[in-house]
Amino acid sequence: MKIARVETFLVPPRWLFCRVETDDGVVGWGEPVVEGRAEVVRGAVDVLAEHLLGQDPLRIQDHWQVLTKGGFYRGGPVLSSAVAGLDQALWDIAGQVYGAPVHALLGGPVRDRVRVYSWVGGDEPGRLREQVTEQVEAGFTAVKMNAAGATSPIATAAETAAVVERVAAVREVLGPGRDVAVDFHGRLGAATARRVLAELAPLHPLFVEEPVLPEHGHLLPGLVAAGPVPLATGERLYGRAEFLPVLTAGVAVVQPDLSHAGGISEVHRIASLAETYGALLAPHCPLGPISLAASLQVAFATPNFLIQEQSRGIHYNKDADLLSYVVDPTPFRFVDGHAVRGDAPGLGITVDEKAVRAADRRGHTWRNPVWRHPDGSFAEW
Ligand SMILES: [Mg+2]
Repeated sequence: MKIARVETFLVPPRWLFCRVETDDGVVGWGEPVVEGRAEVVRGAVDVLAEHLLGQDPLRIQDHWQVLTKGGFYRGGPVLSSAVAGLDQALWDIAGQVYGAPVHALLGGPVRDRVRVYSWVGGDEPGRLREQVTEQVEAGFTAVKMNAAGATSPIATAAETAAVVERVAAVREVLGPGRDVAVDFHGRLGAATARRVLAELAPLHPLFVEEPVLPEHGHLLPGLVAAGPVPLATGERLYGRAEFLPVLTAGVAVVQPDLSHAGGISEVHRIASLAETYGALLAPHCPLGPISLAASLQVAFATPNFLIQEQSRGIHYNKDADLLSYVVDPTPFRFVDGHAVRGDAPGLGITVDEKAVRAADRRGHTWRNPVWRHPDGSFAEW
C-alpha cells in the first residue's frame, strides 16, 4: 500500500483539513492549521507531502522523523501544525487498515468517557451568568472563560477587580461541585499575574491558563511558587523539547494542541513526559472535528489526562460549527459533559467529504483580531 494523494481544504469558520488517500482507496483525514495563518500551513502541507507520496502510510514513526527533521530547519507553529495534520491522517489510515480505533493502537483505552468543557463569555467576557447557566443545563461540569480583555501592562485596580468579579460570578452559578478554568492568553504579564492569581485563589479555579506569554516561560517557577492555583500552558508550544522547561517549572497542566504540536504521535509522547512530572494533559482544541477526534483518541489512551477543550458553540464558530463536516454527530454528542468512547476505526469519525469540498470552494480568510491599548500601542489578544 502506498500514499497516492494528499489534498487540503480551507473550510469555514477558520480551519484547514487534509485528506490522504492510498493507492488502494483508504482515506485518512487530518486538521493541519494555525488559526489565522491557515493558508501558510496549506503551503507547508503541500511541500511536506512530497516526502509521503509513494510511501507506505503505516510507517508513521519514520514519516514523523522525516517530516519534522528532514528539512534541516524544524519546529515552530507552521511546520509543526503541517506535520500534525498529516500525522493525524496517517493514524486514521492505520486504524482503518488494522480495523481498530487509534486509542487501541496507542495501547488500549484507560477510560470509558472523556470530560469536556465548554467556552463561555467570548474574547471580551460578557453575558457570563446566562451562558454558564446554559452550559450547566446542557450537562457540562466545567467551563472555561477569558477573565480579561485587553489589559494594561500593569493592571489597574479596576481591571483586577473586574477579573475577580467575573470569575466570582461564574463560580456562584457553578457552585462548588463544578469547575471553572480561566484563560489569560498571556495578557497579564508576570507582575499582574502574581496579583491576580492571589485574588483568584479563593475562587478555586480548576487551572489558570497562560498567565504569561510562552516566551516568558522562565517566569513560571516564580508564579508556581507564589500560590496554590494550578497553572496550565502549552497551546503555543510545539514539541517535547518545549514542554520540558514548563514541566520542570512545575505547571500542573500541559495543553498541547493535536493540530499544532506534531499530532497524535507527539502529543502522546508529551503526555508521557508530563506523567513523569506528575502533570496532567488537557489538550487545547478550539478547532474542528478532526482535531477534536484526534484529541479524544489520545485522551482515551492517556492515564494522566484531565479534561478536553472542544469548540461546540465557541465564539469563533461563525458560518460552520463542529458538526458541519461530519456524517454522524455521535462522537461529539456529549453526555453529562463527557464524550463517550466508541469503537469505530481510526479517528472514529466519518468526514462529510461532499460538505468539505463545497466549503473549500467558499474558503475563509479568518484572522486574529489586532488589539490596541488606549495610547495606540499594540495589546496582546
Ligand atoms: Mg488558551
